[in-house]
Amino acid sequence: MQIVFIGLPGAGKGTQAARIVEEYGIRHLSTGDMFRAAVAEGTPLGLKAKTFMDQGQLVPDDVTIGIVRETLAKPEYRKGFLLDGFPRTVPQAEALDDILASLSLALDHVIYLEVSRETLVERLTGRRVCRKCGASYHVAFRPPARAGVCDLCGGELYQRSDDSAETVGKRLDVNLRQVDALLDYYETKGLVRRVNGEAPIDEVYRQIQDVLRGRPQ
Ligand code: ADP
Ligand code: AMP
Repeated sequence: MQIVFIGLPGAGKGTQAARIVEEYGIRHLSTGDMFRAAVAEGTPLGLKAKTFMDQGQLVPDDVTIGIVRETLAKPEYRKGFLLDGFPRTVPQAEALDDILASLSLALDHVIYLEVSRETLVERLTGRRVCRKCGASYHVAFRPPARAGVCDLCGGELYQRSDDSAETVGKRLDVNLRQVDALLDYYETKGLVRRVNGEAPIDEVYRQIQDVLRGRPQ
């Protein structure tokens, strides 16, 4: 199963992805997580990505496409994967089609998590992420059992630097333009399934399961 999640920052892609990959035994590929890991390790990729991420801008397509191409070629991705945060531009979507064709694969589902801007700002500024396992929490909507501590692995929770009130607006503007173009790209292929991402986490998950099981919505 090959799935793409489309949604603005804060739409709930990472939250839902964690549950889906566990249920279906497929790989979760988040380009944002990969870039953050590279920044934390201070690798050449991290150094390249950091300036763009800090400013809420997209990392250039050639860099992003390169790491996805390398990752998807790995044998552990043959059982299926969920792409979260990639593609984010039409050139990335075109490159993904090439990558999939070279691997004799095709996309099964493109799921669009629809959420209003007002909700996104609230979600992003209240998001807390586990430094160790990457699990996503929210101070009000999904608080951990113990403040500042990950329920899953006991890791420390932190606020992403690009989730600051100053950067969030910029990120939403940058991504908004791209999402419409991406949706057009996949609409013409008849692949887009819209999910109401405003609903509570469990309800969003049920809607996604309906899509994956081919049930009419
Ligand atoms: P994305 O990966 O799309 O950027 P996340 O999955 O990290 O988004 O979610 C952003 C924030 O919103 C997190 O703090 C998360 O706990 C919270 N969140 C995710 N889905 C929902 C939901 N359906 N209702 C309320 N809060 C949510
Ligand atoms: P995310 O974790 O998806 O919110 O991504 C965090 C940041 O990583 C973004 O603001 C971008 O700077 C960068 N990034 C992640 N995925 C991509 C992508 N597909 N194309 C370009 N930049 C990306």
